[in-house]
Amino acid sequence: MTDVVLAATDLHRAYTLDGATVPALRGVSLELAAGDFVAVTGPSGCGKSTLLQLCGAMDRADAGTLRLDGRDIAALTDTELTRLRRDRIGFVFQFFNLLPTLSLLENIALPLLLARRPEPEAFAAARALAERVGIGHRLGHFPAQVSGGEAQRAALARAVVHRPALLIADEPTGSLDSENGRTVLELLRELNGEFGVAILLATHDAGVAAAAKRQVRMKDGRVA
Ligand code: ADP
Repeated sequence: MTDVVLAATDLHRAYTLDGATVPALRGVSLELAAGDFVAVTGPSGCGKSTLLQLCGAMDRADAGTLRLDGRDIAALTDTELTRLRRDRIGFVFQFFNLLPTLSLLENIALPLLLARRPEPEAFAAARALAERVGIGHRLGHFPAQVSGGEAQRAALARAVVHRPALLIADEPTGSLDSENGRTVLELLRELNGEFGVAILLATHDAGVAAAAKRQVRMKDGRVA
């Protein structure tokens, strides 16, 4: 089924800290189809970020299987995994993670430039998307020169400019005031509808989770 963007089965992940084993995920299964919008909720430390890192192929599980965009990631080399991440996944983080030495336009165009698309095409697509998220007047600015809300809208544009199948958003409103948080959530919903990008969002905030189509509640490394 190509419609399934993400299929995680019985994922386990433990960290080692000062010689002790800290179990972060103890068997989590999750499936997202194209156009899904799932919020993972639960208290701090329950494993949300760990789950998102695995689902975004930023980290590998100790056990369990993960299929992304129809491919079993265990069968991929690191190079193939990097390419899958670059081409098929977008990321949004709590603290924006824009590159400070690039303008907002350059930040947004970056996924296309890394994929070796021609510069005029990359910058035109970045500009169009920036207009779409309401920061068309800030494109020459650097991240330190814009507000948190504007920075996160740029990060959102960067995350979808290459039309990924999956968008991973870890506490995307966590460092914004409530008004900017609402704007970012509204944009997530709109991009989900317009592009059909599946969204996997983590939040400890019930109000934020309510914006998703479906909620998955976690507790102590498991789906509650
Ligand atoms: P959440 O995102 O829900 O706050 P995390 O996935 O960040 O939860 O953390 C789950 C558990 O794993 C917590 O007990 C946390 O302390 C632990 N943990 C997370 N990252 C690391 C790490 N790099 N090293 C050691 N323990 C970690």
